[in-house]
Amino acid sequence: MSPDDRAHFEARLTALRDALRSAGTIEAPKIRDDAVGKVDDDTTPLTEMLQVIASSRNRQHAQVLRRVEAALHTLHREPEDYGLCVECDEPIKRGRLELMPYVELCVRCQSAQEDGAAQRGGRRHLTDYD
Ligand SMILES: [Zn+2]
Repeated sequence: MSPDDRAHFEARLTALRDALRSAGTIEAPKIRDDAVGKVDDDTTPLTEMLQVIASSRNRQHAQVLRRVEAALHTLHREPEDYGLCVECDEPIKRGRLELMPYVELCVRCQSAQEDGAAQRGGRRHLTDYD
């Protein structure tokens, strides 16, 4: 990756980090504000759902922010490593980085990780062939 490319991704990551930071956390609606008697049976499940959505959004939000910060860290400390898959060291495709400049894995390693949970640790034993 050329220094120009790195500058491009650094600018994108910085903008993303600032946006994530200033967005802060999304406030979840409170289930019970005051009197329990006022809570309507029909609206409670909706409020609960909104709360679940808000909290998972916050989690995702915090997770992306952490990855953005880690990517910026790599760009500053080990610029040569930025854009390389942390698993296989192969360069991550440009289009993928444009979409997610904070991504750590190439498509191959990502999908291996996603459907490989069962296979992980399940190496074939050579002795099985005896
Ligand atoms: Zn990889």
